[in-house]
Amino acid sequence: MDSILEVLIGRTSNFQLESNIVTKITQLDICSCYLCNMSWKENRLYSIFNGKCPVCHEGKVFSHKQVFHPSKFDKMEEKCSECGHKYEIETGFFYGAMYVSYALTVAISVAVFVSTYLIYSETVYWVYILLILGALIGLAPVTFRVGRLIWMNFFHGHKPDAIANYKAKTDGKV
Ligand SMILES: [Zn+2]
Repeated sequence: MDSILEVLIGRTSNFQLESNIVTKITQLDICSCYLCNMSWKENRLYSIFNGKCPVCHEGKVFSHKQVFHPSKFDKMEEKCSECGHKYEIETGFFYGAMYVSYALTVAISVAVFVSTYLIYSETVYWVYILLILGALIGLAPVTFRVGRLIWMNFFHGHKPDAIANYKAKTDGKV
C-alpha cells in the first residue's frame, strides 16, 4: 500500500486510495482519551493564557487588563466574581508561585541565551547579560502573572458546575 507521503507527492492519483487515507486521518481525531475529549475552554492552559479563574474559567483573576502597567500588573481580585472561588486559599499561598516564576525566569534566560548564540555566536559576554536582564525585567509582569496562574492551576481543575452551584448557594441566602 502507498504511504501518505506518496499520495501527497502525487505518485498516485487513485481516488479510492486517497479517500481511504482521508478516512484514516479523520479516524485519528476520534480519540476517546481525556485530553482529546477536553475542549479548549476546559483546559487548564485556557485559564493560564487568559488569566481566568482556575475553577470556572470565567471570572478574571487580575483586576486590570494592562499587563505592563507598573503599579497595576500585580493587583488581583480577592475572589472569582462568577463562582466565588477565593484565589488565596490560605495565607502565604502565593509564596509558592515564586518557584514557578523562578522556573519561568530560567526558561526565559536560556531562550534568550540560545537565540542570541544562534543569531551571532561571537557575541561578547556582557551583551548576553544585558539582553537576559532586559528580557527578565521587561517580562517580569508576565512571569508574575503566569507564575500565579500556573500555581493556582496546580491545586484546582476546571469544574463545569462551579458557577451554577455558587449561584444556587447565593440565591438561597438572599
Ligand atoms: Zn471562578
